[in-house]
Amino acid sequence: MKNGITKRFLINGVGVVVVLLILVVCLLFFWSRSFYYQAVESELTSYANTSLDLFNSYMAESDYDVEAGMRDFVENFRDREIVEIQLLNEKGEVLLSSSGFLPEDGMEEDWRNALESDTSIGVWRGKSSLGEHVTSACVALKREGTVQGGLRYISSLRLVDQRLYLLLGGLTAAALLLMAVVLLLSFYFISSILNPIKELDKTARSIATGNYEARIEKHREDEIGHLCDTINYMAGEIGNTERMKNEFVSSVSHELRTPLTAIKGWSETLRELGEEDPELRRRGLSIIESESERLFGMVEELLDFSRMQSGRLSMRMEKMDLLAELEEILVLFRERAAREGLTLQYVDPPSFPPIVGDKDRLRQVFINVLENAIKYTPSGGKIRVEAANMGAAVQVVISDNGIGIPAADLPLVKDKFYRVNKNGSISGSGIGLALADEIMKAHGGQLELESTEHVGTSVILTLPIKPDAGA
Ligand code: ADP
Repeated sequence: MKNGITKRFLINGVGVVVVLLILVVCLLFFWSRSFYYQAVESELTSYANTSLDLFNSYMAESDYDVEAGMRDFVENFRDREIVEIQLLNEKGEVLLSSSGFLPEDGMEEDWRNALESDTSIGVWRGKSSLGEHVTSACVALKREGTVQGGLRYISSLRLVDQRLYLLLGGLTAAALLLMAVVLLLSFYFISSILNPIKELDKTARSIATGNYEARIEKHREDEIGHLCDTINYMAGEIGNTERMKNEFVSSVSHELRTPLTAIKGWSETLRELGEEDPELRRRGLSIIESESERLFGMVEELLDFSRMQSGRLSMRMEKMDLLAELEEILVLFRERAAREGLTLQYVDPPSFPPIVGDKDRLRQVFINVLENAIKYTPSGGKIRVEAANMGAAVQVVISDNGIGIPAADLPLVKDKFYRVNKNGSISGSGIGLALADEIMKAHGGQLELESTEHVGTSVILTLPIKPDAGA
């Protein structure tokens, strides 16, 4: 009974049924009792009525001897086997009884009722001097307003009571049976809810402790079944995110290690040999500088990412020349592309309007997309950057003929931490595109990807000329 739902159900549901059943049984019992008692009473009253009519007609004759007539009537009463008849004098005292028993205690009430009643008939119900449950009907016979005597019909209620107790027993048994069925069905119903809930609770706890592989078995297609689906889905999603985060941490650590190793190695070399070889020192210092910059860039990206996660990615909007920024970045990348054996082609439009945006963030977008184009295009490939004025918006399309993205991964690559080939040789954190996409959205623009595996990828960056109010 410690279980909350079972207890509530028993009190609120089954409790009400029990009370209703008791009420119904009591109502049926009392209604039947009153029905049977009244039936016996009306039977006795009809005896009394018949005898009243009979004697009234006899007493119409002036020389009729009432007492002798009544005595004769009682002695020759035909139904004495089932109904007892008594002869009463004018004071209501019993003169003669068909059973030979003495008058009953308290039975005088029916005589008093008969005297007071307009019909001259009175009834009574109670216990006889033998302790038997009886009912009686009494008729007072009057001649010209004077009471001559009376007749009393008495019937035992023993048989009626027996029948009533049988009925009560039957009703109680039926109620108990119904209760048992209700209880059985209720427990079946409750356990069909409680068992899956217990299972859900257990699995949810297991998920909470980090077991994202835990799944709840769905038994039925109902509300609880849907809840199981939802929790399973949630566990799957948490598991995926957790896995991606772990991969992210390991790939970021790996990414950080490469420049740190270079910086450490060159510092040691310079300490040993730097004094002797100025050329080596110059080269070493420039590598340390560029690697530190790379580190700095990575840390910035991570910081931006965490700002993006917490919704604190702030934008400094100003009127700007997008193409000027793009061209500056391209200057930096041209050299890098050449080093990797790639051709970088740039096509600019004849006219390009100024836009409102955050210079540094949009540069970040170009850098992230161009870095991907370089990373994912093998040597000998081609990168094409094309800017276009679309009237209401401007567009920059960065395409490559690199490894491309499989169709199944295409909708997911913009998700944070998502990487197509996690274990491949190309390093990355999986946040570059997520961040770029977020920045484009903050400008009221968008980042779209078109790609075919082994053919190439196009990243289409669209920015409205008049960005949304919030952008
Ligand atoms: P990463 O740090 O891994 O490059 P991104 O968010 O920038 O993270 O990109 C997500 C994934 O999208 C990459 O891991 C890569 O698999 C795929 N991708 C992005 N750009 C290209 C591209 N130009 N060519 C092929 N695959 C790409």
